[in-house]
Amino acid sequence: MQSMGLEQKIDLLMSMAMDDQDGVPSGPGAMSGNSSRNGGWTRLADGPGGRYVPPPRQLPPRLRHTKEVGALRPLNIRNVRTAGGTRTTLLRILMTNACSFNCHYCPMRRDRNLPRTLLKPAELVRIFLAAHARGWCEGLFITTGIPGRPVKVMDDLIEVLALLRERHGFRGYIHVKMVPGGDDAQIERLTALASRVSVNLEAPCGQHLTQIAPEKNLATTIAGLERTRAQVIDGWAEERAGRPRDRLHPGGSAGMTMQFVVGATADTDRTILDTVTGLYAGGGIHHSQFSAFRPIRETPMEDMKAAPALREHRLYQADHLLRQYGFGAGEIAYDQTGNLPLSVDPKCAWALAHPERFPVEIRTAPMAELVRVPGIGPGTARRIVAERHSVSIRGLADLRKLGAVTARAAGFLTLGGRKLQDVRWSEQLGFWQPEDEVGTYQLQYDVSPGTFR
Ligand code: SF4
Repeated sequence: MQSMGLEQKIDLLMSMAMDDQDGVPSGPGAMSGNSSRNGGWTRLADGPGGRYVPPPRQLPPRLRHTKEVGALRPLNIRNVRTAGGTRTTLLRILMTNACSFNCHYCPMRRDRNLPRTLLKPAELVRIFLAAHARGWCEGLFITTGIPGRPVKVMDDLIEVLALLRERHGFRGYIHVKMVPGGDDAQIERLTALASRVSVNLEAPCGQHLTQIAPEKNLATTIAGLERTRAQVIDGWAEERAGRPRDRLHPGGSAGMTMQFVVGATADTDRTILDTVTGLYAGGGIHHSQFSAFRPIRETPMEDMKAAPALREHRLYQADHLLRQYGFGAGEIAYDQTGNLPLSVDPKCAWALAHPERFPVEIRTAPMAELVRVPGIGPGTARRIVAERHSVSIRGLADLRKLGAVTARAAGFLTLGGRKLQDVRWSEQLGFWQPEDEVGTYQLQYDVSPGTFR
Protein backbone atom coordinates (compact mmCIF):
# COMPACT_ATOMS: atom_id res chain seq x y z
CA MET A 1 0.00 0.00 0.00
CA GLN A 2 1.56 3.28 -1.06
CA SER A 3 1.74 6.36 1.07
CA MET A 4 -0.31 9.06 -0.64
CA GLY A 5 -1.88 12.35 0.15
CA LEU A 6 -5.65 12.56 0.24
CA GLU A 7 -5.71 14.24 -3.16
CA GLN A 8 -3.77 11.41 -4.78
CA LYS A 9 -5.96 8.80 -3.09
CA ILE A 10 -9.10 10.40 -4.46
CA ASP A 11 -7.56 10.64 -7.94
CA LEU A 12 -6.83 6.96 -7.93
CA LEU A 13 -9.99 5.65 -6.31
CA MET A 14 -12.38 7.82 -8.28
CA SER A 15 -10.71 7.25 -11.64
CA MET A 16 -12.01 3.68 -11.48
CA ALA A 17 -15.53 5.02 -12.01
CA MET A 18 -14.62 6.35 -15.43
CA ASP A 19 -16.27 4.75 -18.44
CA ASP A 20 -18.59 2.57 -16.41
CA GLN A 21 -21.98 3.32 -17.89
CA ASP A 22 -24.58 0.62 -18.10
CA GLY A 23 -27.47 -0.14 -20.35
CA VAL A 24 -26.37 1.62 -23.52
CA PRO A 25 -23.87 0.21 -25.99
CA SER A 26 -20.76 2.29 -25.58
CA GLY A 27 -18.33 0.59 -27.89
CA PRO A 28 -17.76 1.36 -31.53
CA GLY A 29 -19.96 -0.37 -34.05
CA ALA A 30 -22.33 -1.36 -31.30
CA MET A 31 -25.35 0.26 -32.85
CA SER A 32 -25.43 0.12 -36.62
CA GLY A 33 -22.61 2.56 -37.14
CA ASN A 34 -24.54 5.37 -35.52
CA SER A 35 -21.72 7.78 -34.79
CA SER A 36 -23.69 9.64 -32.18
CA ARG A 37 -23.62 6.48 -30.08
CA ASN A 38 -20.03 5.46 -30.48
CA GLY A 39 -18.96 7.15 -27.28
CA GLY A 40 -16.38 9.28 -29.07
CA TRP A 41 -14.25 6.33 -30.20
CA THR A 42 -12.12 6.80 -33.30
CA ARG A 43 -11.93 4.19 -36.02
CA LEU A 44 -8.39 3.53 -37.26
CA ALA A 45 -9.17 1.16 -40.14
CA ASP A 46 -12.18 0.39 -42.30
CA GLY A 47 -14.09 -2.86 -42.36
CA PRO A 48 -15.82 -4.86 -39.67
CA GLY A 49 -12.53 -5.76 -38.03
CA GLY A 50 -11.27 -2.18 -37.99
CA ARG A 51 -9.50 -1.06 -34.83
CA TYR A 52 -10.78 1.71 -32.65
CA VAL A 53 -9.21 3.87 -30.00
CA PRO A 54 -11.16 5.19 -27.04
CA PRO A 55 -11.78 8.88 -26.45
CA PRO A 56 -8.97 10.75 -24.68
CA ARG A 57 -8.83 9.91 -21.00
CA GLN A 58 -10.44 12.57 -18.91
CA LEU A 59 -8.31 14.03 -16.20
CA PRO A 60 -9.14 12.76 -12.73
CA PRO A 61 -10.59 15.26 -10.32
CA ARG A 62 -8.23 17.38 -8.26
CA LEU A 63 -8.90 18.55 -4.79
CA ARG A 64 -7.45 21.93 -5.70
CA HIS A 65 -10.52 22.37 -7.90
CA THR A 66 -13.00 21.43 -5.24
CA LYS A 67 -14.16 25.00 -4.79
CA GLU A 68 -15.22 25.01 -8.43
CA VAL A 69 -18.75 23.75 -8.91
CA GLY A 70 -18.73 20.36 -10.55
CA ALA A 71 -15.03 19.57 -10.21
CA LEU A 72 -15.87 15.94 -9.39
CA ARG A 73 -18.59 15.64 -11.97
CA PRO A 74 -16.75 14.38 -15.01
CA LEU A 75 -15.89 11.06 -13.45
CA ASN A 76 -17.92 10.38 -10.45
CA ILE A 77 -21.34 11.91 -10.28
CA ARG A 78 -23.93 9.67 -11.81
CA ASN A 79 -27.61 10.13 -12.34
CA VAL A 80 -29.58 7.04 -11.30
CA ARG A 81 -33.23 6.19 -10.82
CA THR A 82 -34.25 5.00 -7.36
CA ALA A 83 -36.95 2.46 -6.57
CA GLY A 84 -39.53 5.21 -6.15
CA GLY A 85 -38.88 6.38 -9.71
CA THR A 86 -37.16 9.60 -8.68
CA ARG A 87 -33.72 10.43 -10.03
CA THR A 88 -30.74 11.09 -7.86
CA THR A 89 -27.09 11.92 -8.38
CA LEU A 90 -24.52 9.71 -6.70
CA LEU A 91 -20.89 10.19 -5.83
CA ARG A 92 -19.27 6.92 -6.88
CA ILE A 93 -16.13 5.96 -5.07
CA LEU A 94 -13.97 2.98 -4.14
CA MET A 95 -13.00 2.65 -0.50
CA THR A 96 -9.85 0.87 -1.62
CA ASN A 97 -8.42 -0.56 -4.83
CA ALA A 98 -6.32 -3.06 -2.83
CA CYS A 99 -7.51 -6.65 -2.93
CA SER A 100 -6.35 -10.03 -1.65
CA PHE A 101 -8.43 -11.84 -4.25
CA ASN A 102 -7.04 -12.69 -7.65
CA CYS A 103 -10.07 -12.68 -9.98
CA HIS A 104 -8.75 -13.18 -13.50
CA TYR A 105 -10.84 -10.44 -15.10
CA CYS A 106 -10.32 -7.70 -12.53
CA PRO A 107 -7.94 -4.73 -12.74
CA MET A 108 -7.61 -4.72 -8.95
CA ARG A 109 -6.54 -8.37 -8.65
CA ARG A 110 -3.78 -9.18 -6.18
CA ASP A 111 -1.09 -10.01 -8.74
CA ARG A 112 -1.54 -6.93 -10.88
CA ASN A 113 0.94 -4.16 -10.49
CA LEU A 114 -0.82 -0.87 -9.83
CA PRO A 115 -0.66 1.82 -7.15
CA ARG A 116 -2.86 0.81 -4.22
CA THR A 117 -4.43 2.97 -1.64
CA LEU A 118 -7.39 3.14 0.69
CA LEU A 119 -9.58 5.71 2.33
CA LYS A 120 -10.27 5.36 6.01
CA PRO A 121 -14.01 5.44 6.77
CA ALA A 122 -13.74 8.93 8.27
CA GLU A 123 -11.88 10.20 5.17
CA LEU A 124 -14.49 8.80 2.81
CA VAL A 125 -17.28 10.33 4.88
CA ARG A 126 -15.52 13.71 4.83
CA ILE A 127 -15.12 13.62 1.04
CA PHE A 128 -18.74 12.70 0.50
CA LEU A 129 -20.12 15.28 2.91
CA ALA A 130 -17.99 18.01 1.29
CA ALA A 131 -19.28 17.09 -2.17
CA HIS A 132 -22.84 16.84 -0.83
CA ALA A 133 -22.60 20.22 0.90
CA ARG A 134 -21.54 21.80 -2.41
CA GLY A 135 -24.61 20.34 -4.08
CA TRP A 136 -22.62 18.07 -6.41
CA CYS A 137 -24.40 14.89 -5.39
CA GLU A 138 -27.42 13.75 -3.43
CA GLY A 139 -26.28 10.26 -2.52
CA LEU A 140 -23.34 7.88 -2.34
CA PHE A 141 -22.34 4.72 -4.17
CA ILE A 142 -19.59 2.92 -2.32
CA THR A 143 -17.73 -0.17 -3.43
CA THR A 144 -14.40 -1.66 -2.48
CA GLY A 145 -11.67 -4.20 -3.05
CA ILE A 146 -11.14 -6.77 -0.32
CA PRO A 147 -7.71 -6.37 1.25
CA GLY A 148 -7.39 -9.04 3.94
CA ARG A 149 -10.35 -10.52 5.76
CA PRO A 150 -13.81 -9.78 4.34
CA VAL A 151 -15.18 -9.24 7.86
CA LYS A 152 -12.74 -6.36 8.40
CA VAL A 153 -13.80 -4.78 5.10
CA MET A 154 -17.46 -5.20 6.09
CA ASP A 155 -16.68 -3.47 9.39
CA ASP A 156 -15.19 -0.52 7.48
CA LEU A 157 -18.20 -0.31 5.16
CA ILE A 158 -20.52 -0.39 8.17
CA GLU A 159 -18.47 2.33 9.84
CA VAL A 160 -18.87 4.60 6.79
CA LEU A 161 -22.63 4.12 6.78
CA ALA A 162 -22.96 4.41 10.55
CA LEU A 163 -20.97 7.65 10.57
CA LEU A 164 -23.15 9.10 7.83
CA ARG A 165 -26.48 8.00 9.27
CA GLU A 166 -25.88 8.23 13.01
CA ARG A 167 -23.25 10.92 13.51
CA HIS A 168 -23.96 13.20 10.58
CA GLY A 169 -27.69 12.51 10.23
CA PHE A 170 -27.47 11.85 6.47
CA ARG A 171 -30.86 10.52 5.41
CA GLY A 172 -30.33 10.27 1.67
CA TYR A 173 -29.60 7.43 -0.70
CA ILE A 174 -26.62 5.16 -0.04
CA HIS A 175 -25.87 2.23 -2.35
CA VAL A 176 -23.28 -0.19 -1.02
CA LYS A 177 -21.71 -3.23 -2.64
CA MET A 178 -21.69 -6.05 -0.15
CA VAL A 179 -18.47 -7.98 0.31
CA PRO A 180 -18.89 -11.77 0.16
CA GLY A 181 -17.92 -13.51 3.38
CA GLY A 182 -19.34 -11.07 5.93
CA ASP A 183 -21.07 -12.60 8.94
CA ASP A 184 -24.84 -12.50 9.47
CA ALA A 185 -24.74 -9.67 12.03
CA GLN A 186 -22.67 -7.53 9.64
CA ILE A 187 -24.97 -8.21 6.71
CA GLU A 188 -27.98 -7.24 8.84
CA ARG A 189 -26.35 -4.03 10.06
CA LEU A 190 -25.22 -3.02 6.56
CA THR A 191 -28.67 -3.73 5.11
CA ALA A 192 -30.33 -1.72 7.88
CA LEU A 193 -28.15 1.33 7.17
CA ALA A 194 -28.12 1.22 3.35
CA SER A 195 -30.78 2.29 0.88
CA ARG A 196 -29.69 -0.37 -1.55
CA VAL A 197 -27.33 -3.33 -1.16
CA SER A 198 -25.91 -4.92 -4.29
CA VAL A 199 -24.18 -8.22 -4.75
CA ASN A 200 -21.70 -9.20 -7.45
CA LEU A 201 -22.66 -12.70 -8.55
CA GLU A 202 -20.36 -12.37 -11.60
CA ALA A 203 -21.51 -15.68 -13.17
CA PRO A 204 -24.71 -17.71 -12.95
CA CYS A 205 -22.81 -20.99 -12.53
CA GLY A 206 -20.56 -21.74 -9.55
CA GLN A 207 -18.20 -23.88 -11.61
CA HIS A 208 -17.72 -21.19 -14.22
CA LEU A 209 -17.28 -18.57 -11.52
CA THR A 210 -14.39 -20.56 -10.06
CA GLN A 211 -12.68 -20.56 -13.47
CA ILE A 212 -12.50 -16.77 -13.53
CA ALA A 213 -12.46 -16.04 -9.79
CA PRO A 214 -10.73 -18.96 -8.04
CA GLU A 215 -11.23 -17.61 -4.52
CA LYS A 216 -14.91 -16.79 -4.95
CA ASN A 217 -17.70 -19.13 -4.10
CA LEU A 218 -21.14 -18.60 -5.62
CA ALA A 219 -22.87 -20.37 -2.71
CA THR A 220 -21.29 -17.96 -0.21
CA THR A 221 -22.31 -14.93 -2.28
CA ILE A 222 -25.86 -16.22 -2.67
CA ALA A 223 -26.07 -16.91 1.07
CA GLY A 224 -25.27 -13.22 1.66
CA LEU A 225 -27.82 -12.20 -0.97
CA GLU A 226 -30.49 -14.34 0.72
CA ARG A 227 -29.72 -12.89 4.15
CA THR A 228 -30.10 -9.36 2.80
CA ARG A 229 -33.13 -10.26 0.74
CA ALA A 230 -34.95 -11.70 3.79
CA GLN A 231 -34.31 -8.50 5.72
CA VAL A 232 -35.45 -6.27 2.84
CA ILE A 233 -38.68 -8.26 2.44
CA ASP A 234 -39.34 -8.28 6.20
CA GLY A 235 -38.75 -4.52 6.32
CA TRP A 236 -41.21 -3.89 3.50
CA ALA A 237 -43.80 -6.13 5.19
CA GLU A 238 -43.40 -4.29 8.49
CA GLU A 239 -43.79 -0.94 6.74
CA ARG A 240 -46.95 -2.14 5.05
CA ALA A 241 -48.21 -3.22 8.46
CA GLY A 242 -47.73 0.32 9.74
CA ARG A 243 -44.27 0.33 11.29
CA PRO A 244 -43.02 3.92 11.30
CA ARG A 245 -40.06 4.69 9.03
CA ASP A 246 -36.60 4.76 10.62
CA ARG A 247 -35.87 8.38 11.59
CA LEU A 248 -32.29 8.11 10.31
CA HIS A 249 -33.22 6.28 7.15
CA PRO A 250 -36.70 7.40 6.13
CA GLY A 251 -36.30 6.25 2.53
CA GLY A 252 -36.39 2.61 3.63
CA SER A 253 -34.90 -0.05 1.40
CA ALA A 254 -34.87 0.46 -2.37
CA GLY A 255 -34.43 -3.28 -2.94
CA MET A 256 -31.29 -5.15 -3.91
CA THR A 257 -29.44 -5.37 -7.18
CA MET A 258 -27.14 -8.09 -8.49
CA GLN A 259 -24.44 -7.95 -11.11
CA PHE A 260 -23.14 -10.36 -13.75
CA VAL A 261 -20.05 -10.17 -15.93
CA VAL A 262 -21.21 -11.18 -19.40
CA GLY A 263 -18.95 -13.01 -21.80
CA ALA A 264 -16.17 -13.81 -19.34
CA THR A 265 -17.47 -17.36 -18.99
CA ALA A 266 -19.22 -19.75 -21.38
CA ASP A 267 -22.58 -18.99 -19.77
CA THR A 268 -25.23 -18.14 -22.33
CA ASP A 269 -27.77 -15.34 -22.09
CA ARG A 270 -30.41 -18.01 -21.50
CA THR A 271 -28.51 -19.33 -18.46
CA ILE A 272 -28.00 -15.82 -17.12
CA LEU A 273 -31.64 -14.79 -17.58
CA ASP A 274 -32.96 -18.07 -16.17
CA THR A 275 -30.84 -17.45 -13.05
CA VAL A 276 -32.02 -13.86 -12.88
CA THR A 277 -35.67 -14.92 -13.18
CA GLY A 278 -35.23 -17.55 -10.47
CA LEU A 279 -33.71 -14.99 -8.12
CA TYR A 280 -36.38 -12.36 -8.88
CA ALA A 281 -39.05 -14.89 -7.91
CA GLY A 282 -37.91 -14.73 -4.28
CA GLY A 283 -38.67 -10.98 -4.14
CA GLY A 284 -36.63 -8.10 -2.74
CA ILE A 285 -34.49 -7.63 -5.88
CA HIS A 286 -35.05 -4.43 -7.81
CA HIS A 287 -33.07 -5.21 -10.97
CA SER A 288 -29.96 -6.83 -12.39
CA GLN A 289 -26.81 -5.27 -13.77
CA PHE A 290 -24.97 -6.78 -16.73
CA SER A 291 -21.39 -5.83 -17.50
CA ALA A 292 -19.91 -6.84 -20.85
CA PHE A 293 -16.53 -8.45 -20.25
CA ARG A 294 -13.53 -6.37 -21.28
CA PRO A 295 -9.99 -7.71 -21.33
CA ILE A 296 -7.88 -5.84 -18.79
CA ARG A 297 -4.20 -5.31 -19.48
CA GLU A 298 -1.85 -7.50 -17.44
CA THR A 299 -4.47 -9.97 -16.31
CA PRO A 300 -4.77 -13.67 -17.24
CA MET A 301 -7.70 -12.73 -19.49
CA GLU A 302 -6.03 -9.87 -21.35
CA ASP A 303 -6.07 -11.75 -24.66
CA MET A 304 -9.70 -12.76 -24.47
CA LYS A 305 -12.13 -11.06 -26.78
CA ALA A 306 -14.33 -8.34 -25.33
CA ALA A 307 -18.02 -9.17 -25.16
CA PRO A 308 -20.03 -6.92 -27.48
CA ALA A 309 -21.47 -3.95 -25.66
CA LEU A 310 -24.63 -4.71 -27.62
CA ARG A 311 -24.90 -8.06 -25.82
CA GLU A 312 -25.01 -6.21 -22.51
CA HIS A 313 -27.66 -3.90 -23.94
CA ARG A 314 -29.80 -6.81 -25.16
CA LEU A 315 -29.65 -8.38 -21.68
CA TYR A 316 -30.89 -5.14 -20.14
CA GLN A 317 -33.71 -5.05 -22.69
CA ALA A 318 -34.69 -8.65 -21.93
CA ASP A 319 -34.49 -7.92 -18.20
CA HIS A 320 -36.97 -5.06 -18.73
CA LEU A 321 -39.33 -7.45 -20.52
CA LEU A 322 -39.18 -9.78 -17.52
CA ARG A 323 -39.64 -7.08 -14.88
CA GLN A 324 -41.89 -4.53 -16.52
CA TYR A 325 -43.64 -6.01 -19.55
CA GLY A 326 -45.07 -9.20 -18.07
CA PHE A 327 -42.91 -11.58 -20.11
CA GLY A 328 -42.12 -15.00 -18.68
CA ALA A 329 -38.63 -16.48 -18.86
CA GLY A 330 -39.90 -19.03 -21.40
CA GLU A 331 -41.02 -16.29 -23.78
CA ILE A 332 -37.61 -14.74 -24.36
CA ALA A 333 -36.38 -15.66 -27.84
CA TYR A 334 -32.80 -16.97 -28.13
CA ASP A 335 -30.74 -18.00 -31.11
CA GLN A 336 -29.44 -21.52 -31.58
CA THR A 337 -26.46 -20.79 -29.29
CA GLY A 338 -28.74 -19.84 -26.39
CA ASN A 339 -27.94 -16.13 -26.68
CA LEU A 340 -30.19 -13.18 -27.44
CA PRO A 341 -30.00 -12.19 -31.11
CA LEU A 342 -27.88 -9.07 -31.46
CA SER A 343 -29.49 -7.95 -34.70
CA VAL A 344 -32.92 -7.37 -33.23
CA ASP A 345 -34.08 -6.34 -29.79
CA PRO A 346 -35.72 -9.03 -27.61
CA LYS A 347 -39.20 -7.60 -27.91
CA CYS A 348 -39.06 -7.51 -31.71
CA ALA A 349 -37.56 -11.01 -31.70
CA TRP A 350 -40.54 -12.24 -29.71
CA ALA A 351 -43.03 -10.38 -31.94
CA LEU A 352 -41.49 -11.78 -35.13
CA ALA A 353 -41.64 -15.28 -33.66
CA HIS A 354 -45.36 -14.85 -32.84
CA PRO A 355 -47.19 -13.58 -35.94
CA GLU A 356 -50.39 -15.13 -34.54
CA ARG A 357 -50.42 -12.37 -31.87
CA PHE A 358 -50.48 -9.52 -34.43
CA PRO A 359 -51.73 -7.13 -35.61
CA VAL A 360 -53.10 -5.60 -32.41
CA GLU A 361 -56.11 -3.26 -32.62
CA ILE A 362 -55.33 0.07 -30.99
CA ARG A 363 -58.94 0.94 -30.15
CA THR A 364 -59.79 -2.23 -28.26
CA ALA A 365 -56.65 -4.14 -27.27
CA PRO A 366 -56.07 -4.54 -23.53
CA MET A 367 -52.99 -3.07 -21.91
CA ALA A 368 -51.31 -6.50 -21.76
CA GLU A 369 -51.49 -6.81 -25.58
CA LEU A 370 -50.49 -3.24 -26.35
CA VAL A 371 -47.41 -3.44 -24.18
CA ARG A 372 -46.12 -6.34 -26.28
CA VAL A 373 -46.11 -4.29 -29.47
CA PRO A 374 -42.56 -3.21 -30.44
CA GLY A 375 -42.30 0.55 -30.01
CA ILE A 376 -44.95 0.70 -27.27
CA GLY A 377 -43.76 0.73 -23.66
CA PRO A 378 -45.81 0.43 -20.47
CA GLY A 379 -46.25 4.22 -20.19
CA THR A 380 -47.50 4.57 -23.76
CA ALA A 381 -49.78 1.55 -23.42
CA ARG A 382 -51.27 3.05 -20.27
CA ARG A 383 -51.83 6.39 -22.03
CA ILE A 384 -53.51 4.72 -25.02
CA VAL A 385 -55.86 2.75 -22.75
CA ALA A 386 -56.62 5.80 -20.59
CA GLU A 387 -57.24 8.23 -23.46
CA ARG A 388 -58.66 6.26 -26.37
CA HIS A 389 -62.25 6.54 -25.07
CA SER A 390 -62.14 10.32 -24.81
CA VAL A 391 -59.59 11.18 -27.51
CA SER A 392 -59.91 10.09 -31.11
CA ILE A 393 -56.73 8.35 -32.30
CA ARG A 394 -56.72 9.00 -36.05
CA GLY A 395 -53.34 7.78 -37.17
CA LEU A 396 -49.60 7.61 -36.64
CA ALA A 397 -49.24 11.25 -35.64
CA ASP A 398 -51.68 10.77 -32.75
CA LEU A 399 -49.89 7.60 -31.70
CA ARG A 400 -46.59 9.45 -31.71
CA LYS A 401 -48.08 12.11 -29.44
CA LEU A 402 -49.00 9.33 -27.00
CA GLY A 403 -45.38 8.18 -26.96
CA ALA A 404 -45.31 5.29 -29.45
CA VAL A 405 -42.24 4.79 -31.63
CA THR A 406 -44.34 4.45 -34.74
CA ALA A 407 -41.47 3.44 -37.04
CA ARG A 408 -41.38 0.17 -35.12
CA ALA A 409 -44.96 -0.12 -33.92
CA ALA A 410 -46.93 0.64 -37.09
CA GLY A 411 -46.43 -2.73 -38.79
CA PHE A 412 -47.86 -4.49 -35.74
CA LEU A 413 -51.04 -2.41 -35.34
CA THR A 414 -54.45 -1.81 -36.84
CA LEU A 415 -56.66 1.22 -36.25
CA GLY A 416 -60.37 0.51 -36.61
CA GLY A 417 -59.48 -2.65 -38.53
CA ARG A 418 -57.25 -0.75 -40.99
CA LYS A 419 -53.55 -1.61 -41.25
CA LEU A 420 -51.40 1.35 -40.35
CA GLN A 421 -48.45 0.31 -42.46
CA ASP A 422 -47.91 -2.20 -45.21
CA VAL A 423 -44.27 -2.84 -44.53
CA ARG A 424 -43.34 -6.38 -43.58
CA TRP A 425 -41.94 -6.60 -40.08
CA SER A 426 -38.68 -8.08 -41.23
CA GLU A 427 -38.20 -5.19 -43.69
CA GLN A 428 -39.15 -2.70 -41.06
CA LEU A 429 -36.43 -4.04 -38.80
CA GLY A 430 -33.90 -4.40 -41.58
CA PHE A 431 -31.84 -1.37 -40.61
CA TRP A 432 -30.11 -3.40 -37.93
CA GLN A 433 -26.57 -4.39 -38.70
CA PRO A 434 -25.81 -8.09 -39.21
CA GLU A 435 -24.63 -9.73 -36.03
CA ASP A 436 -21.19 -10.49 -37.40
CA GLU A 437 -20.54 -6.80 -37.84
CA VAL A 438 -21.00 -5.83 -34.23
CA GLY A 439 -18.69 -6.30 -31.31
CA THR A 440 -15.69 -7.18 -33.46
CA TYR A 441 -13.29 -4.56 -32.13
CA GLN A 442 -10.56 -5.74 -29.82
CA LEU A 443 -9.06 -3.52 -27.14
CA GLN A 444 -7.50 -3.91 -23.77
CA TYR A 445 -8.61 -1.78 -20.89
CA ASP A 446 -7.39 -0.53 -17.55
CA VAL A 447 -10.76 -0.29 -15.87
CA SER A 448 -13.33 -3.02 -15.63
CA PRO A 449 -16.95 -2.20 -16.38
CA GLY A 450 -19.30 -3.13 -13.61
CA THR A 451 -17.21 -1.84 -10.74
CA PHE A 452 -19.78 0.84 -10.07
CA ARG A 453 -23.02 -1.01 -10.81
S1 SF4 B 1 -13.49 -8.70 -8.52
FE1 SF4 B 1 -13.53 -7.92 -6.41
S2 SF4 B 1 -12.72 -9.58 -5.19
FE2 SF4 B 1 -12.11 -10.02 -7.31
S3 SF4 B 1 -10.06 -9.10 -7.49
FE3 SF4 B 1 -11.56 -7.57 -8.15
S4 SF4 B 1 -11.96 -6.32 -6.35
FE4 SF4 B 1 -11.00 -8.22 -5.67
